[in-house]
Amino acid sequence: MSNSPLSLSDVRAAARRIAGLAHRTPLKPSPALSARLGRPVHLKLESMQDTGAFKVRGAASMILNLAERRRRRGVIAVSSGNHGRAVAHVARRLGIPAVVCLTRQVPAVKVAAVEALGAEVHADAADQAAATRQAMAMADERGLTYVDPFDHRDVVAGQGTIGLELLDQRPSLDTIVVPVGGGGLIAGIGVAAHALQPALRLIGVTNDRDPAMHLCLKAGRIVPVGESPTLADALPGAIPEDNRWSFPLCREHVEEIRLVDEAAIERAMAWALRREKVVLEGGGAVGIAHLLTGAEPDLGADVAVVCTGDNVETARLLEIAARHPDP
Ligand SMILES: *Cc1c(COP(=O)(O)O)cnc(C)c1O
Repeated sequence: MSNSPLSLSDVRAAARRIAGLAHRTPLKPSPALSARLGRPVHLKLESMQDTGAFKVRGAASMILNLAERRRRRGVIAVSSGNHGRAVAHVARRLGIPAVVCLTRQVPAVKVAAVEALGAEVHADAADQAAATRQAMAMADERGLTYVDPFDHRDVVAGQGTIGLELLDQRPSLDTIVVPVGGGGLIAGIGVAAHALQPALRLIGVTNDRDPAMHLCLKAGRIVPVGESPTLADALPGAIPEDNRWSFPLCREHVEEIRLVDEAAIERAMAWALRREKVVLEGGGAVGIAHLLTGAEPDLGADVAVVCTGDNVETARLLEIAARHPDP
């Protein structure tokens, strides 16, 4: 494994690797957000990615870089849903075995989606840490390769392909708003976007319950953080002590991680559905949630919001939309 820092050329190499497995997603103008904020705002619709979330980029980037012999033995992942689904999807496309360890908090819609892709699913761990221990033990026993959800250079490079696409689709962008969990997504976008446009501002957003990366950045080191239930179920989880990639890259590339509460996330999901005709899960809507609060000083003149995923139960989304008739 290379120790050299991740660079634009790594992200470009990832883009070439994953071309057959991940789509280039649309960058859709949002007239409603643009009118509200008085400047052009675009939505990067990773919710339209295969599997309904961007994580297929990182998973494909890493799995396609494995030596043939390792790849054939199979892969294993721990996930709050979307990463497991991405790994299962890529494994199926490549015809290799996949095992996915989920926690009991994962919504049924996400468990079912991973099972439907033919992966072996374990969904009995109490939290991410327990699921990770379970996965590490099984990886050892069965010679499977562990595919980290955010802390691997090939995974970060894969997520960074979104940054390449964004600046290709709209070179005038000066601000990108990005949901943050373990930080692999915003780290990758930071590497690509800052190489192409050093002055670009990256604003991270996460939910205000146990915002792990936010607390680590504030402390200047990795601190232990809990894991509370939230509508943004793709975002929680502590940053492991031995983190090598996402935390250092977030320190380098991310100016600020803003926090949004559950009510703001609900409203953003309703806004996306009613005003943008876009389905978003909670974690995919935190960027819009932050913009709707109007709490961002100096927003910049040309803004893109990464809308990361759409894996939400339909009944839940409709119930939320019904509570917000005029978001
Ligand atoms: C994984 C995920 C995120 C956060 O990505 P990180 O790389 O963990 O920061 C955001 N939104 C959705 C929908 C996700 O699945």
